[in-house]
Amino acid sequence: MTDAEIRSILTTRLAAVDARIADACRRTGRERSAVTLVAVTKTVSPRVAAVLPELGARDLGENRPQELWKKAEAVPAARWHLIGHLQRNKIDKTVPLVTLVHSVDSPRLLDALDAFGRKRGSPVPVLLEVNCSREEAKGGFAPEEVPALGDRVASLAGVRVEGLMTMAAYHENPENCRPTFAELRELRDRLRTATELPLPHLSMGMSNDFEVAVEEGATFVRIGTTIFEGLEGE
Ligand SMILES: *Cc1c(COP(=O)(O)O)cnc(C)c1O
Repeated sequence: MTDAEIRSILTTRLAAVDARIADACRRTGRERSAVTLVAVTKTVSPRVAAVLPELGARDLGENRPQELWKKAEAVPAARWHLIGHLQRNKIDKTVPLVTLVHSVDSPRLLDALDAFGRKRGSPVPVLLEVNCSREEAKGGFAPEEVPALGDRVASLAGVRVEGLMTMAAYHENPENCRPTFAELRELRDRLRTATELPLPHLSMGMSNDFEVAVEEGATFVRIGTTIFEGLEGE
């Protein structure tokens, strides 16, 4: 495909996603500006990813650190989000490139990020990933563990916890994801009360279920397939 063809497809797709987010906001009385689209570029090349910021989609996400390093170099105009597992030995190279780590999935990683943030003298902005769908294959804190994290979270000088993240299980009917998203919001509300931290963010909702997630309070939706389908080879 030519650059012009890629631009044209992405322009149409982004407008469609934006309209669907706006509709979900309207249905629930939320401001459209309360929800940020993170375009998940993991299936496409740096060339395709580079078009997004030019079209106004500045927040891009990758689930693998090495891939993020590569794309962040190629697309410096983006705000990069890490949405997948971060190995502790990749913290030094990854954290300086990202605006938010969505996927802190263990106490060990939280401690390692805290140490990194203390050493550099500014806290690392993160979300805690919670396995609300309770699937074996998924990472993250168990929902039952979250309330007990309050004291820890409130006392970290090297990490700024800004909220929670989850991935719902795949359901043909996205309505079935609603309890997962509602649970994440309730966990956030409880943690907020316990810590007195603002915890403004809920990162939830993917191609299949983002409208339901917005209705349940998502502030970040992470969307790949709906935007990039058919552009994998470009
Ligand atoms: C791939 C991925 C997404 C995007 O999923 P789509 O269904 O393609 O929209 C969102 N979040 C995470 C953590 C992912 O790995």
